[in-house]
Amino acid sequence: MAGLYLHIPYCKSKCRYCDFVSFADCESMGEYCAALLKEMRLDAAALPKQAYDTVFFGGGTPSILPVGAVAMLTDALRASFEIMPDAEITIEANPGTLNETKLREYRAAGINRLSMGLQSTNDALLETIGRIHRYADFVQNYECARAAGFTNISADLMYGLPGQTVKDHLDAIETLYRLGLNHISAYSLIVEEGTPLYTDVTGGAESLPAEDDVYLMHRRGMEFLETLGYARYEISNYAKPGFASRHNLNYWENGMYLGLGLNSHSAMRINGSWMRFANTERLSDYIMSCNQGIRPLASEPEAIPRAEEMFETVMLGLRKTEGISEAAFRLRFGEEIEDVYPEALKSLATHGWLVRDNGACRLTDEGLDFQNEALLAFLPD
Ligand code: SF4
Repeated sequence: MAGLYLHIPYCKSKCRYCDFVSFADCESMGEYCAALLKEMRLDAAALPKQAYDTVFFGGGTPSILPVGAVAMLTDALRASFEIMPDAEITIEANPGTLNETKLREYRAAGINRLSMGLQSTNDALLETIGRIHRYADFVQNYECARAAGFTNISADLMYGLPGQTVKDHLDAIETLYRLGLNHISAYSLIVEEGTPLYTDVTGGAESLPAEDDVYLMHRRGMEFLETLGYARYEISNYAKPGFASRHNLNYWENGMYLGLGLNSHSAMRINGSWMRFANTERLSDYIMSCNQGIRPLASEPEAIPRAEEMFETVMLGLRKTEGISEAAFRLRFGEEIEDVYPEALKSLATHGWLVRDNGACRLTDEGLDFQNEALLAFLPD
């Protein structure tokens, strides 16, 4: 299985908590899209042929692109890469940036999954974190997307926001359930240094909910989602049956992916070696490099040693509630997971953080809550 990721680093304005590589100044958007087309051809010529099962337009805000641009990029992807006929093709969209014309264009281009950055159904909370939209914008865009034929729609929710209560989070979940969302990603806010929200929080202008309340939002949110029929399949992701994100599952299975665009990352097996590479994060370098016919890599591709590939496979696989398939581990590495990590498996099982059943090693709910600590057991001494 392999995925293609395409990064669109533009947004209408910068959210107050955001430290991603994204720009509110869209002047270079045309040049950037032209560079992306060039990068597609450069990568297709340089890399081994590969069929891709998923495509993900991520950002930034891909839905900020003008009418026609997404269809043009999708056509170009198909011209350069083999995209499977049944590929899952997702576009991230922010409420307030969609309209009927764009949504119909996406459907006609074969995009079959929409991932909406809602974050909260409470307008006061949306304003606090500097989102461009209000809840009503989401509902309008969501209904428009359903009318355009989207049957697979996800929304992101955040918890732990300044001023947010446990009830706010549970209300948001219930609202999305009633609207008929197929998939919900629920993330805890991380206040990153250097962002306006960090300044507000450290300066006392905003205060975060108590740690215990944030934990309750996570626990009770998780239980409520499961009661409503959304199965937790990864630490922060919940889906109705058949709606888990195939693209993200591939990341957690440590599968191959090719990232196109600014600051995008890739992992691929090339001539038998597991290789990792990333594009530059400087916009001007990215555009210039593509224009000169040079792949816009930040550095030379790096071969990942086998022990590191094993650790990454475990680290990512244990994010999934179904854990790591022991047969898949054996197939990939020619060794049994219990022979590679005998002590880690034993000590985590003793803690009650890991179980082995149905041919898989997986973390328990408690183990998932302490995932970072649990993973330390797999690190070499
Ligand atoms: S929409 Fe996403 S990428 Fe854009 S500024 Fe907000 S958080 Fe950052």
